[in-house]
Amino acid sequence: MSTENKNNPVYSTTNDNKLDLGNDEWKKILQADVYNIAREKGTERAFTGKFWDHNETGTYYCAACGNPLFNSNGKFESSCGWPSFFEPISKDSIIYAPDNSYGMKRTEVMCGRCNAHLGHIFNDGPPPTGMRYCINSVILDFDKKIG
Ligand code: FE
Repeated sequence: MSTENKNNPVYSTTNDNKLDLGNDEWKKILQADVYNIAREKGTERAFTGKFWDHNETGTYYCAACGNPLFNSNGKFESSCGWPSFFEPISKDSIIYAPDNSYGMKRTEVMCGRCNAHLGHIFNDGPPPTGMRYCINSVILDFDKKIG
């Protein structure tokens, strides 16, 4: 359940106050796999995450802080091996930054509340936005209700 207490005092699906914690604090409250994606900008291997092939109706939250990020009606089937969305829940749920690592020009997407790394955005998505938010399953929690 996305709302269960994870021993994470900042986790909330309703409080949208911005968080500004240091990595030493995040390390204490996040599981190692979540910390790796959120704070070290890691990437799960394609087709290994729990949500790339997941089609239930509901809401996806930031696994680090609980911020609502995507609805299932903004998700689409992509062959890339990561959960893919064409739009976020709201403009404020996501923030963007240029990422020129690994010799590529990409745009990183991060949680609008806690700055956790989520994945990247590409312009090869379906209508109506034409965008593909390519997100790591590890940094998502799912709950079967629309937020
Ligand atoms: Fe977050």
